[in-house]
Amino acid sequence: MTEKIYEYKDANDWYIGKWDTFTYLTCFGDDENDKEVRIGFHQLLEQLSLEGLQIHVVKYRSLFTFWSFLIQIINEEFERQLSVVQHKGAVLVMEGQQLVAIHLPKEGVSADTFFGQLDVLTEVGDTILIATKNEGKTAEFRQFFEKWGYKVENLNNYPDFPDVVETGVTFEENARLKAETIANLTGKMVLADDSGLKVDKLGGMPGVWSARFSGPDATDERNNAKLLHELAMVFEVKDRSAQFHCTLVVAAPNVDSLVVEADWNGYIATIPQGENGFGYDPLFLVGETGRTAAQLTLEEKNSLSHRAQALKKLVEVFPVWQGQNSKGS
Ligand code: IMP
Repeated sequence: MTEKIYEYKDANDWYIGKWDTFTYLTCFGDDENDKEVRIGFHQLLEQLSLEGLQIHVVKYRSLFTFWSFLIQIINEEFERQLSVVQHKGAVLVMEGQQLVAIHLPKEGVSADTFFGQLDVLTEVGDTILIATKNEGKTAEFRQFFEKWGYKVENLNNYPDFPDVVETGVTFEENARLKAETIANLTGKMVLADDSGLKVDKLGGMPGVWSARFSGPDATDERNNAKLLHELAMVFEVKDRSAQFHCTLVVAAPNVDSLVVEADWNGYIATIPQGENGFGYDPLFLVGETGRTAAQLTLEEKNSLSHRAQALKKLVEVFPVWQGQNSKGS
């Protein structure tokens, strides 16, 4: 148990919480909200068999946001990997392949609609769903999976699908969370990736926080400026070593996920150079070439990058994994 005080605040919801020896809830809301908050709060703790969560609700609008806040505290305090998703009007809490808690709206949900998607859980069909809305990334993966006869979809085919909150502290946890949650909800085979930059002098930072390194308003430019600032006193190029990392996870219902990962080695430059790519590319000196990733052509980058290397590994092991799982199912 930590002493940490947690807070979530946006225009509609505002919560403060901590873990202690007994369960406690206070709220400023109106009566109707008050009732929903109380029911939702005790229901979640009961379904997870937990006691000791203390919450103050200043403003409440959404049970999904409220449960997401509670789950964030539980994940941190107990090193769990719960995730919250909305499905057909219900709010579900998943842990790996297990559905561990559910909240239904007052009027319930249509059983046909609700189970319509879930009862295909045991079938791994001939489609692979790439857990991204990025068409560029999808195209890289499409090239391989179509060769093996798979139809390739991405999250743009599921516009109503909620974002899976990346609560993991490792690339594998985040990639698993995305792949396994979506595989369980859709009954499909799902591929998710998580990537980022690890700088040796910074103990592996920004790591899983690469996208948000400079804070909630992070942009590529701000992230790069912060990185340069952090390394301002490291003068020798050899001391500015770094790796782009990529973890890929393929998940399907009722089978163990396939995990592969790869690193792309380089050094952090002292000034940004190059116009191509994205993210930290202008600062990432590729091996001994003296060029940054942003100075490579797309083809050059796609033959060297962490994602390309991880994908090469996936190409080797995927057919074996797939073969084992179709025999077992
Ligand atoms: P994601 O896993 O694709 O969401 O990437 C997380 C973050 O890592 C990105 O927002 C970038 O800041 C950084 N990143 C990942 N891959 C690359 C890359 O190939 N070039 C530059 N930055 C990258």
